Amino acid sequence: MKVIIVRYSEIHLKGNNRDFFESALISNIKFVLKEYKYDFARSNARYIIRNFDETQIENIIDALKNVFGVHSLSVALEVDSVYEQISAAAIQLAPASGTFKVSTNRADKRFPTKSMVLSADVGGDILERNPRLKVDLFNPDNTVYIDIRENGKTFVYTQSIKAVNGMPVGTGGKGIVMLSGGIDSPVAAYMMAKRGMTLRAVHFHSFPYTSMQAKQKVLDLAKLLKKYTLHITVDVVSFTEIQTAIHEKCPEEYMITIMRRFMMRIAERIAKNTGAGAVITGESLGQVASQTLESITSTNSVATIPVFRPLIGFDKDDIIEIAQKIGTFETSILPYEDCCTIFLPKKPVTKPRLSAVEKVESVLDVDALVDNALGNIETIVIE
Ligand code: ATP
Ligand code: MG
Repeated sequence: MKVIIVRYSEIHLKGNNRDFFESALISNIKFVLKEYKYDFARSNARYIIRNFDETQIENIIDALKNVFGVHSLSVALEVDSVYEQISAAAIQLAPASGTFKVSTNRADKRFPTKSMVLSADVGGDILERNPRLKVDLFNPDNTVYIDIRENGKTFVYTQSIKAVNGMPVGTGGKGIVMLSGGIDSPVAAYMMAKRGMTLRAVHFHSFPYTSMQAKQKVLDLAKLLKKYTLHITVDVVSFTEIQTAIHEKCPEEYMITIMRRFMMRIAERIAKNTGAGAVITGESLGQVASQTLESITSTNSVATIPVFRPLIGFDKDDIIEIAQKIGTFETSILPYEDCCTIFLPKKPVTKPRLSAVEKVESVLDVDALVDNALGNIETIVIE
């Protein structure tokens, strides 16, 4: 019978927490496989998927590969632990040409033949069927793995498919990701989901200065992220009133700095209202004027909960590479304006002093503006 072996990653190191991590992982696996029929079993430090529709195997593998916490997958033949069946399975999976070796793991010590001997015998059977093959024990093109389990069953397989690794979503607390339409913030979201965070997104838009397409683009990005985050809700906050107030009352070179502080305050309030414990941004040190240490200091100073910036030490090229890998890049580069591009100062301060920022901002009724924005949220659950 064809089965899928699902191996998990560092979560098995978590001692007493193991049940917590495993139950999150299992429920996430079941979530991504909800449209398929299959049997699921736990078998020390791995899961076995059986009795699935084999015509769907590519889709099932693709779904499993992207579940955080999954380390690798193998499609295996499961046979009874008797020599003839093991050998027949190995012959079936053996490569057509090149070099190979057989590698045996005998977890079931009741199995009569020692690993080395079994590998040699099965290798001999494979060679007999296909004399064009050659054995190479040290640097083979292909390896046929035989894994003799304690339950009287044996898995035979040749490939390990690398999965995403990371920690199961749901084990790392809850975070609010500030999601713009750009390249960086979706990557930041991906990275924190990979550490097990459950995410909710906030997006600031300035209708009518920014278009409905700009908002739709962010919802499209959230939909792409859902593949990894499993669930995601986007709070779309109208930022127009705040931007207009800053534009009217503050020196234009402080526009971006003060906007960022408002975004942070609102994100934090949403975090508190929804039981989240952190805010996540796509900032990368020095990338633009608003991402100098001084700018980050002035944004950070309004936050009272941790702000995670997983891209802080990344080059743009590296961020783009991840965006391409996770499938958000093509959407991120679509040309829609962001609210940060309106009222854009000609010469933004690159090294704002916190005391100066606070003084400039003091002409605004910060609390009222934040409260108004919070009262003006459109919440969209991404399906
Ligand atoms: P990105 O590619 O994520 O847009 P960026 O390089 O354009 O980032 P900035 O525009 O300086 O950088 O934004 C820094 C961070 O602030 C973003 O990564 C995002 O987390 C947050 N942010 C910016 N604009 C918005 C917005 N309109 N709504 C929500 N978050 C935003
Ligand atoms: Mg941006």
